[in-house]
Amino acid sequence: MQYEPVIGLEIHAQLKTNTKIFCNCSTSFDQQPNLSTCPVCLGLPGALPVLNKKVIEYGIKTALCLNCKIADKNIFARKNYFYPDLPKGYQISQFELPLGLGGFINIGEKDNQKRIGITRLHLEEDAGKLLHRADGSLVDFNRTGIPLMEIVSEPDLRTAKDAKEFVVKLRDILLYNGVCDCNMEQGSLRCDANISVRKAGAKEFGVKTEVKNMNSFRFMQKALEYEIERQIDELESGGRIIQETRLWDEAKGVTVSMRSKEEAHDYRYFPEPDLVPVMVSVQWVEDIRKTIPELPDEKKERFVSQYNIPEYDAKVLTTSRDLADYFEDCAKLYSDAKIVSNWIMGELLREIKNDNTDIKDCSITPKMLTDMLGLIKKGVISGKIAKQVFEDMYKTGDAPQDIIEKKGLKQIMDPNAIRSIIKEIMAGNPKQVRLYRQGKTKIIGYLVGQVMKHTKGKANPQLVNKLLAEELKRD
Ligand SMILES: [Zn+2]
Repeated sequence: MQYEPVIGLEIHAQLKTNTKIFCNCSTSFDQQPNLSTCPVCLGLPGALPVLNKKVIEYGIKTALCLNCKIADKNIFARKNYFYPDLPKGYQISQFELPLGLGGFINIGEKDNQKRIGITRLHLEEDAGKLLHRADGSLVDFNRTGIPLMEIVSEPDLRTAKDAKEFVVKLRDILLYNGVCDCNMEQGSLRCDANISVRKAGAKEFGVKTEVKNMNSFRFMQKALEYEIERQIDELESGGRIIQETRLWDEAKGVTVSMRSKEEAHDYRYFPEPDLVPVMVSVQWVEDIRKTIPELPDEKKERFVSQYNIPEYDAKVLTTSRDLADYFEDCAKLYSDAKIVSNWIMGELLREIKNDNTDIKDCSITPKMLTDMLGLIKKGVISGKIAKQVFEDMYKTGDAPQDIIEKKGLKQIMDPNAIRSIIKEIMAGNPKQVRLYRQGKTKIIGYLVGQVMKHTKGKANPQLVNKLLAEELKRD
């Protein structure tokens, strides 16, 4: 029996504002516990919330990028429940009238795109953070009142891989807009999934479970794959799926039941009496629209047409705005964009990944990289030596010309110089020379290697091949 998974996602993104959503406390992550608090975010009696305008702006900006309709009237509501990390006993959130409604994101390649619907985008405040230890539980209220954006997708996703692609795409949009730093490990981007399976062709949805605690893209895909298999196995063996919340246990590679969700919570929502409705004018939306940068998809398409590079390259180069800018700066200085792309995707990204740093902090400027490419083109250094120069540039931040000069890495182009080295190598390898002359011509590769070794890779390989063949033919 074939089953079809049905997946919907709920994503929480902490907005990168300087201060919290309803007070002036700092949102900075690395602070002493409970120091970034005040009567408002601690929920002390009589304290009144004041809405941070930036939060609405960031919300509108994101909603526009997700093709949502922007609500002109926004109302915040109280979502009432008790939990130790929620000092007020309620969370201020948007309920009936969310900021954004009915949008979409396209995933997949150009000729095979799937449209994934966005049900809603709303704004709310984060709760505090609980830390469970052997000697008891601790609470940190630094996180209470950090602005959160909740984005809910339609149940349009059908595979774990698509779900991952959706979140990656959403993350790129948030990063390009600078509204969230999207650090899944630190929890600034959190993702929960609703999953069910149904027999292929069925119209009705199956019973769904909610999977939480997937704090990396890799874990997310693994967790969803596991949960899909678990549900199919359960149904195939005659069992039934219970509506419940399950946690991904990375160490064991399984999802485990956290709590059953047989009955819906009643949060007793009502409009927050301490905040007035937020009216969003058309003009305000249009002003914000003008601040939206070129998004990854548009940039990717432009890179393909403007620089004539493969789609794959364009995709890699647009994974971040900084990387895309770096590539464009290089492409302005060196006309062969594909060569630029090869060096960035190969050598540069490898070094950056090894060091776990960022392109912003890279010691090789676009000018240095393209100067080096120019030196290869002019034959001053070989492509092989260039890799050595590149490593040196990366470590020291020195200009390629200086490195070549200092280390004597200039390519040997003088035929006489190369010829005399060839003669030396031939004299030292009489057996190989004899074999070549007996018809084992493949052995030339060995002799070329010896010449290159002798010159520490600096001899021009084409010249070495040509001159060596000439010398071997001469008796
Ligand atoms: Zn505060």
